[in-house]
Amino acid sequence: MAQKRDNSAWIKGGNATSAGAPSSSGKAWRLILLGAPGVGKGTQADLLCERLGTLHLSTGDVFRAAKAAPAGDRTPAIERALGYMKRGELVPDDTVIDLVRERVACLRDATGFLLDGFPRTVVQAEALDQLMKAEKLSLTGVLDYELPTDEVVKRLSGRRTCAKCRAGFHVVTMAPKKEGVCDHCGGELYQREDDRPESIRVRLDAYQKSTSPLTDYYRKLGLLIPISATGSPEEIFQRSLTALKAKG
Ligand code: AMP
Repeated sequence: MAQKRDNSAWIKGGNATSAGAPSSSGKAWRLILLGAPGVGKGTQADLLCERLGTLHLSTGDVFRAAKAAPAGDRTPAIERALGYMKRGELVPDDTVIDLVRERVACLRDATGFLLDGFPRTVVQAEALDQLMKAEKLSLTGVLDYELPTDEVVKRLSGRRTCAKCRAGFHVVTMAPKKEGVCDHCGGELYQREDDRPESIRVRLDAYQKSTSPLTDYYRKLGLLIPISATGSPEEIFQRSLTALKAKG
């Protein structure tokens, strides 16, 4: 198994550089993960990046890191973005596209990348096409995780995250040994602001309206790889690997 890559250059932006072992497999996978919030994209992204040795590039993680940073370090655009995020709404395309453009060096990484949470609209997908074309890069595939809506709501509302080490839990399917406490580091578990019922509804609406058209977009380009997101994270992961092997 490849070593998990350091993605601090992505999180911090600017001139930060990433360090870490490149993939031993030699192939640079350039992947996008699609799927409604709650289908388990984050978990699959971690598993896939570890196996394939690629960089995990999550736009949501960049916003969450900005939220955790001192207020004085945030630009006005990021400050506004955090307001959208808190309500479960999509951050405007221009802001997100600028954020990715500032981090284009991560797309160039020789080991490839796995984009998680970007693109989320057709405008963002077109901007990504342009960025990649300018860098003479092409996508390997787009994994699209499919799950019925009522299952999505169940998964999202039970999700908990460790404030210290960011490990994920679920109150029903992956409960910590002690309620509210991380099994790994003893940190406090919390519910993401945007996993509360009022935000979940807004996020699912945003997904239906803005992000689901991307499945057609990538299907037409011959890049879409549909994956059923039912079952355990390990089962979904094995399904993903099988589909990627068939593709690549
Ligand atoms: P995620 O962790 O990917 O679910 O993202 C959390 C939140 O960050 C989303 O609900 C949006 O408010 C915002 N966000 C992340 N990525 C994007 C994106 N590509 N476009 C618009 N908003 C985004």
